[in-house]
Amino acid sequence: MEELYVDYIIIGSGPAGQKAAIQAAKLGKTVVVIEKGPYPGGASLNSGTIPSKSLREAIIDLTDFYQRSFYGKDRPQKEISINDLNYRLNKVLDEQRKMLLKQFEKNNIRLIFGMARFEDSHHVLVLDEKDHLLAKMRGDYLLIASGSQPRNPLHVPFDNEVILDSTRLLNIDHVPKTLLVLGGGIIGSEYASFFAALGTEVTVVDKRDHMLPLLDIEIGTHLQKALTAIGLKMVGKKELESIKRVNGHAEVKFTDGTQLEAEMLLYALGREANVEHLHIEKAGISVDKSGYIPVNALFQTVVPHIYAAGDVIGGPSLASTSMEQGRLATRHAFDVQTHHFPTFYPIGIYTIPEISSCGYTEEQLKELGFRYEIGRAYYYEIARNLLVGNDPGMFKILFHADTLEILGIHIIGRAATEVIHIGQIAMSFNARIDYFIDQVFNYPTYAEGYRIAALNGFNKVKHKK
Ligand SMILES: Cc1cc2nc3c(=O)[nH]c(=O)nc-3n(C[C@H](O)[C@H](O)[C@H](O)COP(=O)(O)OP(=O)(O)OC[C@H]3O[C@@H](n4cnc5c(N)ncnc54)[C@H](O)[C@@H]3O)c2cc1C
Repeated sequence: MEELYVDYIIIGSGPAGQKAAIQAAKLGKTVVVIEKGPYPGGASLNSGTIPSKSLREAIIDLTDFYQRSFYGKDRPQKEISINDLNYRLNKVLDEQRKMLLKQFEKNNIRLIFGMARFEDSHHVLVLDEKDHLLAKMRGDYLLIASGSQPRNPLHVPFDNEVILDSTRLLNIDHVPKTLLVLGGGIIGSEYASFFAALGTEVTVVDKRDHMLPLLDIEIGTHLQKALTAIGLKMVGKKELESIKRVNGHAEVKFTDGTQLEAEMLLYALGREANVEHLHIEKAGISVDKSGYIPVNALFQTVVPHIYAAGDVIGGPSLASTSMEQGRLATRHAFDVQTHHFPTFYPIGIYTIPEISSCGYTEEQLKELGFRYEIGRAYYYEIARNLLVGNDPGMFKILFHADTLEILGIHIIGRAATEVIHIGQIAMSFNARIDYFIDQVFNYPTYAEGYRIAALNGFNKVKHKK
């Protein structure tokens, strides 16, 4: 078999691999992307970001979620079938896959389907599922962007009907009447809220006493209230003992002697890096104690011409951050002037209601000893929100009490994941809180929340200025 020689070999076609490939192609480099398949696009397109967010949009639309507050209905009025949900999902996935393939083609990026395996630090083999050799190639530079998958511990009897992870959940054939979600992290909380909005009786179980502990506590409390209002139950401080499928139901026992049952169970207790088939040790690389590939600030592994980006290097494990890591790694590899990964970036959590934040939480500021003040705006004060459905929500802006510099922005409520970027950009210019006061905002918009929150915060400190 003839050996293929290219400038850049990329393993994985998820967000990190895609953006890396396009960046390299734009620099005139020859690029091969190897993808295990069966589809291009990684977990983001096939089992993570895009499917979950398509389901979310379908659920919000089909259940008239935002109309309910007007018409006094606290539950969906009609039963939504899995076919209704999947119809939209499949259409979205199909379009996105086509668009990705078009982008690769337009940029002369060669996509090879097969399992990548290192032979040494410059050579990679591509194998089919029976380990037959499909291709052999040499690259000057390489990027490992092989992503992550749900953690499937051996003692959990996963199937595709009752005991599920976030990938298996996409194959269920009906909407369950009851759902147990183990794990109140981002993935567990998002799916829990989607099913609660659909009318499923959802219970989230976690060893901590509240969901999403990474959030600013005030925002977390707001979330918990909003979720309780749509019928979701949270059971905290539980340690798992066993998970079983009994008579077609999931049965979970806890160490305190209690047990819970449900028609379906979503096991959302972590993900792990996809490294098991790569033979990275042949390239001189090993994983850290959490199973991720260690990299420096430039995304180089211990072998300087081999980079790694995205979920395979560990947190923050987002499609958004993975894309930028892949792009930055590539720019460094091919010696193009570049910047470091930004200190502040937004985190979007698509629970219903959605949340987004950028910068420090109040708890972090306290711990660091900052002198801070807070500006708040509640969604009931925002005209746009009243027009479209009076949903719960708030803006919380943290700023330095002396310099007025913005230190953190936390938004919960409709459009939070969009409007956060206004605050993010302001923060990247070290803006002060009064910047938002001196601007004119479109009216009525959600963005107006910045101005209301800024006025609220500034009024607390202005007498000192
Ligand atoms: C349910 C869920 C919801 C999410 N929602 C969001 C969200 O709303 N916003 C957000 O920003 N992020 C979200 N994420 C996270 C996001 O999906 C991941 O951070 C992102 O997909 C990581 O990108 P990646 O390129 O590192 O890896 P991946 O997208 O995992 O892609 C890696 C690719 O490498 C391939 N591969 C692996 N091993 C090999 C091999 N040996 N040879 C060849 N190919 C290989 C895999 O098949 C895969 O296609 C979500 C994740 C999940 C699970």
